[in-house]
Amino acid sequence: MRRILVLMLAATAVGGTLNVSGARAADKLRVVASIPDLKALTEAVGGTLVEVDSLARSTQNAHDLEARPSLMIKVRRADALILNGLDLDDWADVVAQGANNPKGDVHPAGNPHYTLDPGLAAQVTQNILEGLARIAPQNRAAFERNRQQFLARLEEAMGRWNKLLEPYKGAPVVVNHNMWLYFLTRFGLVQAGSIEERPGIPPTPSHLVKLVNHMKQERIKVIVVEPWGDLKTVQRVAQEAGAQAAVLASSVGALKGTDTYINWVDSNVKMLAQALR
Ligand SMILES: [Zn+2]
Repeated sequence: MRRILVLMLAATAVGGTLNVSGARAADKLRVVASIPDLKALTEAVGGTLVEVDSLARSTQNAHDLEARPSLMIKVRRADALILNGLDLDDWADVVAQGANNPKGDVHPAGNPHYTLDPGLAAQVTQNILEGLARIAPQNRAAFERNRQQFLARLEEAMGRWNKLLEPYKGAPVVVNHNMWLYFLTRFGLVQAGSIEERPGIPPTPSHLVKLVNHMKQERIKVIVVEPWGDLKTVQRVAQEAGAQAAVLASSVGALKGTDTYINWVDSNVKMLAQALR
């Protein structure tokens, strides 16, 4: 099993031993991704040459996962493990190598939610391609073809998304968990606060009072929340501030009709545009 770290800046495969035997090389590569977004992007590159499973489920908060035996079995059977890095999927490292998992502010190494930015998908899929091609060099050309086709579809969709969100450039948006920053910034929106006081740390009453005042003052109309977020608190804040809560798909597959990377971004862009209207 080989570990492939997809992290944009440090695009390298790390450690691990290869267990693709000659007999298996002609079969599909068995790949495990830590989160559904990386599963979707790996499928875009690997096409029919890979079989990809995700350790985190779509509706789960990836920060909250634990290294369960069922996950360890999945990883043990895999030819490659695709990792996000930046501490988002430390538990997947635990699964792979039995290290320890610290708790607290869940973004100690910086905001790890870069898969939400479709503008970074070219880099992420390039890193996935390099990782897969190291394991199955005979398939490099096919991986490259798949990736180019995916990027062409993505570019076309990007045009539509930019158009849809164009009228809301500069609009301030509040989020529940600080995971939408890459997505909002890509489309020219401004993250103007969060329900969580710090990433992974629930809000104090005084934080919420300040947030409501800020939202009223700045006329902030939308709070973006994940399906796993504390909807009750988010809705209460939205109501007090005269805003609305928009539940967006925090990862590929988290809501109906978001089963591929492009469908997923598409759904989030449309729902956000609707909420901002
Ligand atoms: Zn996070």
